[in-house]
Amino acid sequence: LIKPMDRLSFYYPSRMIKQVGMIGEGNFCQVQKVEQVGPENEERVAAMKACHISNELKGTKAGRDACIEILHEARILAGFINYTYITMFYGICFDEPIPKLIMELCPYGSVESYVTNKDVKITTAEKVLMAHDIACGMKHLEECFCVHRDLAARNCLISAKGIVKVADFGLSRQARELESEKLRFNEFKAPVRWMAPECLTRHPNFSNKSDVWSYGMTLYEIFSEGRRPYEEENDMKKVARKIRSFQHPPIPPAIVEACVIPAEITALMKNCWSKETIGRPPFAFIALRLKHVGKAFATI
Ligand code: ADP
Repeated sequence: LIKPMDRLSFYYPSRMIKQVGMIGEGNFCQVQKVEQVGPENEERVAAMKACHISNELKGTKAGRDACIEILHEARILAGFINYTYITMFYGICFDEPIPKLIMELCPYGSVESYVTNKDVKITTAEKVLMAHDIACGMKHLEECFCVHRDLAARNCLISAKGIVKVADFGLSRQARELESEKLRFNEFKAPVRWMAPECLTRHPNFSNKSDVWSYGMTLYEIFSEGRRPYEEENDMKKVARKIRSFQHPPIPPAIVEACVIPAEITALMKNCWSKETIGRPPFAFIALRLKHVGKAFATI
């Protein structure tokens, strides 16, 4: 199945796809595990993402927008085919009212669920490797002038080969689109805790550098066993106020004292949270830095 390079077309008729189980649900979308109906071969499974439109939303603008978002995500993903650190686009299914995105199945779930799982003991070397993979995916986006706008541990998925891949491009935009559209976030969907200060203003300024800020939050999640940034605060307005005044979440002292978190990582996190965007390192630098840190830990 579903090896795009072997196919002439990326369009999947629905008769080729058999749903075999539910993986999860987001705000507007649900993701299912699917199989191709056809001769047995190894690569039969995939993930299928579609918007779940409730009866009230059917035929409304919100319903149409949700469908457009899936197509938009497909368009972005299709530009990153065969890149190791980004979930692979397989195709799209159009022959029903709701379009569906078919992509690589990441059977080990999200980094968020992995790092919060109390039953697994994750080594520092493994955490550095996860952070490295995400930086490599984001480096590719940076090179392609694409801004993710929703980078967080929940949106990084673990592939069948154990590689961490950047996923969920529903809110992503090309840099030039950001300039012309002056997009505003729908407040309901805004991932405030991960957002950079310059994005929480009346005229938000999303860029690869605001993704770097969110990457710092993702590092924080990985190295603090899945704590959400500013976890102690539930009022989103207060969280936004903290971010606008450049307060980043404190690195839990217990974690620092136990040396669970290497000093290089703490320093990197703080660099990602630099007040001025120019002070935040590019993803190309972060990926390289983590490659070296990873080597040091792998040999311990
Ligand atoms: P939304 O865009 O509505 O937030 P998500 O993309 O977050 O939806 O997906 C919902 C759930 O499905 C999440 O739990 C996510 O981890 C899971 N998921 C999404 N894509 C895949 C995939 N390719 N492989 C495995 N699980 C996935």
